[in-house]
Amino acid sequence: MIHPTPRLRFAPSPTGPLHLGGARTALYNWALARSLGGTFVLRIEDTDRARSTDESLQIILEGLAWLGIDWDEGPEFEAGGRACGGGDHGPYFQMQRLDRYAATAAQLLASGHAYRCYCSPERIEQVRAQQKAEKSSFLGYDGHCRDLTEQQRADFEAEGVQPNLRFRMPDDEVVKVHDLIRGDVEVNTRQLDDWVMVRPGGVPLYNFACVVDDVDMRITHVVRGEEHFLNGVKQRLLFEALGHECPQYAHIPLILNQQGGKLSKRDPGVKSALEYRDLGYPPDAVFNYIALLGWGFSADRDLFTRKEMVEAFRIGSVGKAGAKFDVDKLHWMCGEYIRQWPVEELVARSRRWVEPLLAGASWEESAAFLGNALGLFQERVQLLSELPAKLRWLFEDPAPDEAAQKNLDKHEDAPQWLAAYADLLEGLDLPASFGSDRGAFDREVRLPTPEDCDPPPASVLTPTQLGDRTRALIQDLGIKFGQFVHPVRAALTGTSKGPGFFDCVWLLGKEECLRRLRSPSRRG
Ligand code: GLU
Repeated sequence: MIHPTPRLRFAPSPTGPLHLGGARTALYNWALARSLGGTFVLRIEDTDRARSTDESLQIILEGLAWLGIDWDEGPEFEAGGRACGGGDHGPYFQMQRLDRYAATAAQLLASGHAYRCYCSPERIEQVRAQQKAEKSSFLGYDGHCRDLTEQQRADFEAEGVQPNLRFRMPDDEVVKVHDLIRGDVEVNTRQLDDWVMVRPGGVPLYNFACVVDDVDMRITHVVRGEEHFLNGVKQRLLFEALGHECPQYAHIPLILNQQGGKLSKRDPGVKSALEYRDLGYPPDAVFNYIALLGWGFSADRDLFTRKEMVEAFRIGSVGKAGAKFDVDKLHWMCGEYIRQWPVEELVARSRRWVEPLLAGASWEESAAFLGNALGLFQERVQLLSELPAKLRWLFEDPAPDEAAQKNLDKHEDAPQWLAAYADLLEGLDLPASFGSDRGAFDREVRLPTPEDCDPPPASVLTPTQLGDRTRALIQDLGIKFGQFVHPVRAALTGTSKGPGFFDCVWLLGKEECLRRLRSPSRRG
């Protein structure tokens, strides 16, 4: 048998943002398509007219693009640096495919696989209530309209009752399913009722539209959440009724919270793709983390690129058990990714968060200073949105936080130490203040590891040399390093912790240090 080209799809309903679960489904379909050298289709299941919006659609497309999940066919959009979408198997929006559903429904009515059901919602409700009261093992439609006579049907039509179209399930058949993750499973059709394919008015429901589309779009593999497992059985029977081979199904396990329950939007750290974007999560880290929710790259490695994932991904190695979402691990991973970036990349990616701090100064002209400043915090953030709070002291007079104020107040001699330090710095060759003239900050001088970087101009002290001079002063003052550094750091940065003290002094520049150390409020 000639195997068809693998074709996979992600089929979101545009009724809300792209959440973790949806993103993982998209990612696994994408990775499987790419690893098999196949085609990845994006299909929009927009038949829920009350809840589908253009806004949600845009948010989903942007979310996929942000994660670097690109598609070959579907809505046209720029994603992963390429123009995505188009294709010969569309339209890719279900509401543009109503004629296909109508034609297929007519075919199934004619073949007897579907029938018209005239039951009112009230009757359906009654049947269900009775089943519940009787603790029946079967819950669902009782098949009342399965075998109506011509006359009965004509009577309903004459009364103007609009029918639902139902799929006639085999009465008592064991359906054998091979799931790529769950293995061989048998389901008896007695558990499943005659489900509604099309509502009055011609709008198809999920299981029906999905199969018509999977046929038309020549889908060969379907990866989706395990909540669709029984839908897969219904869909398989519909494929058979239409004389088509069913795609291979892979139903992926739930994502769980830390307590082992079903993950919900309210669990800590659970966000949609664009919320992660807006909070400064590196997209590669989110992609990497989501990929691990149910699948492992290797026993000793959790960090990998998209390309490495595609090479290593096997759908059969996705676990059967639910995967626990661990926000701490996600954040750790974000920090790891940020650390790997060259500082220029960190500067470029941080722009959206850091630029407002410049208060109108040119971003481009501040590049060297920003490289120095961001480099100092590269090891200290996990999300880019943490940067403004960490960097604010460089741009604005810091209001000391509680711990810093304690350090300022602790020793009554502290004001004298600040004054002595100001006097020392005044006589040293240090970078000038960037406060009014950031562009002039010496571009040759690089942090965060001053010893590793280009040598600064000979006339300017390195942070290490600054350290030597400072230690000499501390010795002259006859105090301990810690006694000195805590209040001085508090006066200069407003906090009691942060990157290396001498790096901070050096980065802040001479003029600004003098101003802060000599500010009356610091002298007590
Ligand atoms: N629109 C469905 C969902 O979002 C698609 C399920 C499927 O992949 O078949 O759950």
